[in-house]
Amino acid sequence: MNFYIMTLFPEMVMDVLNTSILKRAMDKGIITAKAINIRDYASNKHNKVDDYTYGGGAGMLMQAQPIYDCYNAILKEIRENDPEANPRVIYVTPQGSVFSQEKARELSSDNDIIFLCGHYEGIDERVLEEIVTDYISIGDYVLTGGELPAMVMIDAVARLVPGVLNNDESAETESFDDGLLEYPQYSRPEIWNDKKVPSVLLSGNHQNVEVWRFQKSLERTKERRPELYEKYVEEHPDQFTAKVIKKRNKILDKIDE
Ligand code: SAM
Repeated sequence: MNFYIMTLFPEMVMDVLNTSILKRAMDKGIITAKAINIRDYASNKHNKVDDYTYGGGAGMLMQAQPIYDCYNAILKEIRENDPEANPRVIYVTPQGSVFSQEKARELSSDNDIIFLCGHYEGIDERVLEEIVTDYISIGDYVLTGGELPAMVMIDAVARLVPGVLNNDESAETESFDDGLLEYPQYSRPEIWNDKKVPSVLLSGNHQNVEVWRFQKSLERTKERRPELYEKYVEEHPDQFTAKVIKKRNKILDKIDE
């Protein structure tokens, strides 16, 4: 999978992507990431990429032409390998739909994704209309630039690409996968700061462990993300019939925490 990042700060992006698990995945050739400097496509002698906004108002706006030329150069490169390619172009913007694990999963099956990072007041609307396929936000707050959001999305997407995570870093039973937050987890030692690991986790009884973890996931989601909990209950009525709850409670009653 190939990520292309259109940015005014390529070093910032590559410094982050060239570390840890993503670096290992790049070294193995499972993913590639290339940050392209939009400024290299400025057609004026001062390499200026921003200008005042029509209609007045504070702040500068990124101009259309350098971004359009930058995009076309990336598209040309992608189409050298795949002439039919029609890559997604994501403008990271607080005006987009909010990024989620579900969206990360959807994006993880693309071959090529182009990210467009804005700065200043944003980007001339006309070039967005020409090239952008998806408008995505990382949350309802405003950052100074699109690089951090692009890196957040690349990290979340890349780790779902087969081969990026090792077995011991598995992405299989994580928060959001089934609509619930993950249960609490513990590692050695068994007692730390007078706090004991719940005994069920040491019992070796897999069914009990599974029921306990599910119950903790439910409780945690209900407490921290009540809207996700309500949705889960609505979508999984089979888990909340009187018979199923009774069966679960019978096991939980036996578990000594
Ligand atoms: N004037 C814009 C508005 O009100 O929507 C905000 C511009 S912001 C200062 C500069 C750039 O940061 C944006 O073009 C976008 O690329 C990026 N950005 C800021 N907050 C973001 C967020 N929550 N999610 C994704 N990108 C964001």
